[in-house]
Amino acid sequence: MSEDGSSFRAPKGTRDILPPESWRLEALYDLAADTFAAAAYAPIETPMFEHTEVFARGVGETSEVVNKQMYTFPDKGGRSLTLRPENTAPVVRAVLEHNLHRGALPVKLYYAGPQFRQERPQKGRYREFFQIGIEAIGAPGPTIDAEVIELGHRFLRDAGVEPHLKLNSIGHPADDCRLGYNRALVDYLQARVDDLAPGDRGRIETNPLRTFDSKEGRTREVMSTAPLITEHLCPDCKAHFERVQDLLRSVGVPFDVDPRIVRGLDYYTRTAFEFTAGGLGSQDAVGGGGRYDGLAESLGGEQIAGIGFALGVDRILLATGDNGPSRGSRVEVYVVAAGEDAARPAFALACRLRAGGIGAEIDHMARGMKAQMKDADRSGARWAAIVGPDELAAGEITLKNLREGVQERIPIDEVEGRVRS
Ligand code: AMP
Repeated sequence: MSEDGSSFRAPKGTRDILPPESWRLEALYDLAADTFAAAAYAPIETPMFEHTEVFARGVGETSEVVNKQMYTFPDKGGRSLTLRPENTAPVVRAVLEHNLHRGALPVKLYYAGPQFRQERPQKGRYREFFQIGIEAIGAPGPTIDAEVIELGHRFLRDAGVEPHLKLNSIGHPADDCRLGYNRALVDYLQARVDDLAPGDRGRIETNPLRTFDSKEGRTREVMSTAPLITEHLCPDCKAHFERVQDLLRSVGVPFDVDPRIVRGLDYYTRTAFEFTAGGLGSQDAVGGGGRYDGLAESLGGEQIAGIGFALGVDRILLATGDNGPSRGSRVEVYVVAAGEDAARPAFALACRLRAGGIGAEIDHMARGMKAQMKDADRSGARWAAIVGPDELAAGEITLKNLREGVQERIPIDEVEGRVRS
């Protein structure tokens, strides 16, 4: 209830998605199913809430999402549950729980649905938001990285977004690779601790890579001359990264290598990427993803390779406006009932048409015949099927082509054939 008690409003940071935007959301979900199914990804649904541990371990206790943004609550049995803030950890949890990784590899899955984070709401940033994502689990080689990235890029393009792809490799946790780099970064940051924004200083200990994500001007200045991971990759990680780039070039996916795209947790490995789009102001990231070869182990399973992305549906809708794909109500025939006696056969005809796959609408507001004809025009129907006393007596209807203005009487059984022709 609002403060003066006058009416209910959706909670802060949530929004109702109303027609016609809701049609555009549906169209995006359809596009996702088409795009990903054509690359052998199958849909998965995981619960809207999980044991809090899944995210504490699967997103990382030092991440901002886990630290500050989770909707966590005890259930009546005293268990700590959390509304999912992202979908990768739940998908990997489900793969391990159901032993999907013991079957044919890679396990390829896609999801679409709401996620929850208690962030400060602003344009393009909500507390309930929608993500579409894919996860490919069990394949360590670079071809799957290129496949996942190409699919994300093509999906965004087909959705009407002109994505800018930023690509990086964050190596793997070994002394001659990311751990060595981390030490070089920590040394660099410690020497400049006073120049960092106060809120970022703690990151040197907890999560130095994440310092690259800071929005603070002071910190960004320091980071602009920081050592870069790309200069510290081991030969294997370097070769993997080069192969991914080569494969993307071979299919014409444009990208920029950006060594500042990072994932600050140990189980993230190698490929990391981000898609941005214009017209979104400060919230210009439409998606991100990367390889997470250590995630399954963090969730108590064995070591299994994995890579995926999550795209922000709300931001895609914002970026594309009315230009993205859409659907709509599909009314082809408006059945006009001329007189009270015609209401029953008109209803029957509408139901028959719908059952046969032809979109049909009828009047529910007791309109007169003239008003029904007007409503038929508004509905977007191409045909009006007029059921009146004369027609009824003869087992016929009058079929009017609303675009061309011509009409004729035909037997009622011939409506479907005429409309389809
Ligand atoms: P992340 O899971 O943080 O890597 O985010 C992936 C994508 O989800 C981002 O690029 C955004 O497009 C979208 N996203 C993340 N958080 C929000 C939010 N609070 N509101 C709307 N979209 C979001």
